[in-house]
Amino acid sequence: LREGDAGQAERALEILSTVFGYDAFRGDQAEIIQQVASGGDAVVLMPTGGGKSLCYQIPSLLRAGTGIVVSPLIALMADQVAALEGVGIRAAYLNSTLDLDQARAVEQQLLAGELDLLYMAPERLVLPRTQELLGRVRLALFAIDEAHCVSQWGHDFRPDYLGLSVLAERFPEVPRIALTATATETTHRELTERLQMQEAKHFVSSFDRPNIQYRIEPKATPREQLLKLITSEHEGESGIVYCLSRKSVEQTAEALVARGIPALPYHAGLDAGVRQDHQERFLRADGLIIVATIAFGMGIDKPDVRFVAHLDLPKSIEGYYQETGRAGRDGQPSTAWMAYGLGDVVSQRKFIDTGEGSELFKRNAHSHLDAMLALCETVSCRRVQLLRYFGQDSQPCGNCDTCLSPPQTWDATVAAQKLLSALIRLDRERGQKFGSGQVIEVLLGRQNQRSTQSRHDELSVWGIGEELSEKEWRTVVRQLLARGIIEAEGDYGVLVPGPQAGPVLRSETTVELAVDRTPQRASRGGGR
Ligand code: ADP
Ligand code: ZN
Repeated sequence: LREGDAGQAERALEILSTVFGYDAFRGDQAEIIQQVASGGDAVVLMPTGGGKSLCYQIPSLLRAGTGIVVSPLIALMADQVAALEGVGIRAAYLNSTLDLDQARAVEQQLLAGELDLLYMAPERLVLPRTQELLGRVRLALFAIDEAHCVSQWGHDFRPDYLGLSVLAERFPEVPRIALTATATETTHRELTERLQMQEAKHFVSSFDRPNIQYRIEPKATPREQLLKLITSEHEGESGIVYCLSRKSVEQTAEALVARGIPALPYHAGLDAGVRQDHQERFLRADGLIIVATIAFGMGIDKPDVRFVAHLDLPKSIEGYYQETGRAGRDGQPSTAWMAYGLGDVVSQRKFIDTGEGSELFKRNAHSHLDAMLALCETVSCRRVQLLRYFGQDSQPCGNCDTCLSPPQTWDATVAAQKLLSALIRLDRERGQKFGSGQVIEVLLGRQNQRSTQSRHDELSVWGIGEELSEKEWRTVVRQLLARGIIEAEGDYGVLVPGPQAGPVLRSETTVELAVDRTPQRASRGGGR
């Protein structure tokens, strides 16, 4: 006997309040639950913290049988299951952390119809043995969490997700719901195809997090800059600081503690017990700062994180959005702050070029980085740019650094031409390529051992850039790198003209660059 829609909606609300203790659905939750509970498929794009879990948990309770939740985050399963058991839901997980006896016991529970929800990793789900097991029981639904992992284009591809397409063939009558917090239009299309969700209803929430203030500033003395952010705006508040390397995680945490700011390190090189302990202390304590590599944060649900700081450039906008999204889940004003500099661009390019991976993989990685750099160097609203990346149009927000104090810009066409000419002359007349340091020395006409040896002072480009300071040149180099007007190449990050150099050299385009806001002192006027 099938209930009417109204009856089902009523029962969903009842579960929401009696089981989970909430009194209203958020955003699209009610419609998504309705769709899946009545046997339809759903593709759900919802930002982190939007409330995706209830979208499959409640339909699993509404429908007869067990809901199967596919997730790559094995480390979180035990906690998720414990939380569900805490509210009286019969949940379990199957993954590689269980020994054979434990796994058998869970399988027995499943076969006996004693489970509302069963979590498992994709590699387990696609095993013939598992498929056979699932074929013998009544299934409420399949929830495919972190569904962007199926996208080869995405930043988080997991080959095991490709196997999930078998669900549509093997269990055509079981509704499926795919969920992700990181989906560009490309990923959205790709996951719909790969998971065979063509018949599904799509739910795309707004990705805007209006309470988060986005700010990106040039990196000068990053730890001092961070300290200033904390002491002047977030004293005594909880925050997450992301660094790229374990070493800088350690050093940054130590530097904060040395200044009397409670901070703990978190990275994959720490003992599992220590990591667990630091994570738990962060979740429970008020005003504790966790300094972490990106290993930290998957599934972290702490509502009052008041700031997320990046001391190094994230590899993609998806990553940046996910990491900054851990701030302000309670809806209160929060800061997403980042310091980034020339070194970040050079080292990340090099990292991609010298790393493992196919040509396609590298090309994708570069284009992800390009989009991230464009966000860093934009002179218009950061939120508009961020949301546009996720396919959403919006108006300038009034709550990001570029809206609050629009950057001064200057016409840097001549500077860009001078820099390109220097690269070209050094290469043609001396057969030399250099990193930014030596190129700037040439532009400034400053003698050093290398320039004396190679008679750089006899080149026509010697000293043609004296109107800018060394610091200003570094700013120019960084911004030109971000725009592909120059490129950093090879192990040493030597500068060469980039794909966008031609039009600049031929004066077919002008180059508008931002004047860097200097964090310590006000920056010099609008350039020239
Ligand atoms: P996501 O998986 O999208 O990141 P979660 O499912 O973890 O988000 O939900 C984020 C937080 O919001 C959780 O603490 C959850 O309990 C809470 N939440 C979800 N839906 C509601 C709701 N309708 N009312 C109140 N709180 C909710
Ligand atoms: Zn803005």
